[in-house]
Amino acid sequence: MRFRGRFRLLLLPQLAVAVVLFAQAGAAASPAGAYSTITPEGIGAHIAEIQGPRSGTGDEANRAKLNEVAGYIRDLLAVDGLVVIEDPVNFVGRTFPNIVGMLTGTTCPEKTLIVGAHYDGVSSGPGADDNASGVAAMLEVARVLSAQPLQASVDFAAFSFEEAGLVGSSQMAAAAESADRELLGMINFDMIAYTCDEPGCQDYPEGMEPVRSTGDFLSVVGNSNSALLLNQFVAASAAAVPGLVVLPLEVQGNGETLPDVRRADHAPFWDHGYQALFVTDTADLRNPNYHLSTDELGTLNLQFAADTANAAAAAVVEALTADANGDGRADVCGDVTVGGSAESPQPESSVESGTDESSTPDAVFLAILAAAGVAVLAAAGAWLAVRRGSR
Ligand SMILES: [Zn+2]
Repeated sequence: MRFRGRFRLLLLPQLAVAVVLFAQAGAAASPAGAYSTITPEGIGAHIAEIQGPRSGTGDEANRAKLNEVAGYIRDLLAVDGLVVIEDPVNFVGRTFPNIVGMLTGTTCPEKTLIVGAHYDGVSSGPGADDNASGVAAMLEVARVLSAQPLQASVDFAAFSFEEAGLVGSSQMAAAAESADRELLGMINFDMIAYTCDEPGCQDYPEGMEPVRSTGDFLSVVGNSNSALLLNQFVAASAAAVPGLVVLPLEVQGNGETLPDVRRADHAPFWDHGYQALFVTDTADLRNPNYHLSTDELGTLNLQFAADTANAAAAAVVEALTADANGDGRADVCGDVTVGGSAESPQPESSVESGTDESSTPDAVFLAILAAAGVAVLAAAGAWLAVRRGSR
């Protein structure tokens, strides 16, 4: 997660554009349960290996550690049987690669969903939450999904130079658009392992009354173009990991007026027109160890991290196997027409949104919460009630 800039001044009512998502229950049963095998121990083992100062712009010890972590990621993705490629990323005279493990789809391999996390860190701390936790989740999702390829392809990506300004992810997103790659979307883990139970531990923007004082929920943020993927994530998570409180949030446009939700590697994918989700524990709005020497494994909630990874694995399965017309061909692969060509379906959203609502006091309030990278629990509670009532 990048360091926060001068964002608070932008939180003016007239800039309010966010609408909390009221996801609707998916009708189809999800096969995701079969993939819910990620454990706290598995997550913790990765974090133990990865944590340590590893800034790509840091001193020799930092760079040696970053190289070691790159090797760890590369080796594990290869063990999963994935084809692993490295794409060099250059920044201020240093080079660290984006590392990608490719899982080839069985029906439409040319279409790809990316599951990513940045593997660099800051020199000021071990970066267990930021972002060894996200890399651990990515590696575990790769492990469980590689056992059974889906109809479309999945790229498991570890980005470099995130802390320097989203450099690695920006390079990948730009290259994808230049090459006209058919990216189905991107799911970004950035800080997914810290929770807090003490009242008042969840931070909110200055002047705002907290709607929930504890930080025990997962925030998943999408822009308006990502509504389909966001809806799928919420539905799959609820089915596969019902105990995980997921607060989805949809921001309009590419989140330009809510810079706090653009502080990680999903943002370049939004900017290049792809669906992308930001999966996070809300970073420094919750974790007091952010970018400090105390961001250590022992401070983390590994069950929460495992739940998050399982939810994401289920979401990937949901996104790549959804088959509305039941013809056995996943919606993302398109339906084969009489002429033999495939057409991609238009994404359909069940998200409640609209600019008319953005000027109401509630919408303004939600927008400010959105800037904090969190959503309103009351909204999620209402959604969960709908969800449970539908079962
Ligand atoms: Zn960070």
